[in-house]
Amino acid sequence: MSPDELGLRRAIIDKCRWMNANGLNQGTSGNISARFGDRMLITPSAVPYHEMEPDMIAAMPFEGEYGAWQGPLKPSVEWRFHFDILKGRPDAGAVVHTHATWSTILAIAHKPIPAIHYMIAAFGGPDIRCAPYARYGSEELSRFALEALEGRNGCLLANHGMIAVGSSLDKAMWLAHELETLAKQYYYALQIGGANILPDGEIAQVVEGFKSYGLQDRE
Ligand code: 13P
Ligand code: ZN
Repeated sequence: MSPDELGLRRAIIDKCRWMNANGLNQGTSGNISARFGDRMLITPSAVPYHEMEPDMIAAMPFEGEYGAWQGPLKPSVEWRFHFDILKGRPDAGAVVHTHATWSTILAIAHKPIPAIHYMIAAFGGPDIRCAPYARYGSEELSRFALEALEGRNGCLLANHGMIAVGSSLDKAMWLAHELETLAKQYYYALQIGGANILPDGEIAQVVEGFKSYGLQDRE
């Protein structure tokens, strides 16, 4: 294995541990993938993150048989949406899926997040959609997730959790954290009488601003 690939596998595991330590996920829920050249690297299914080692990460080539994988352990049950997102969006370098509490509460209520805060613009538009419910690991879930992610870098998954997509692992985890923060803010705003929603025109301008503001890719 090349030093670059080993480094990316380690970075995926670091991010898994970070998301659990920072309240963005719990247990073996959630999963993370990243693009490595012509392959996707993805966390194995149901392995506690503190036990995960770089050689346990599964590799799935973008070309060839759909679903083919290499590794000592089977890939995350959610390999479909990770694969379909990374294959369909050349700008995407990493995908983070978590069962973060506040995002999941809104997803249980089937509530998309409107433009309650300018930070929503980091996701590419004036809302974060909630994909309809489909069973974990299903082709339908992947299809619904891709539809909810159209023109966006994040979405909720009904009765399940959330997805954040970034050009890099750092960016995807930054967005996952921001999505959870927006979900929490929206939840509490609803408790005190509701949220004032920013106009679409304002969000469109902030989306432009985010091209040079917020976490940027390092060269
Ligand atoms: P895996 O352990 O297979 O990645 O599944 C966790 C999960 O979040 C399923 O939606
Ligand atoms: Zn899940």
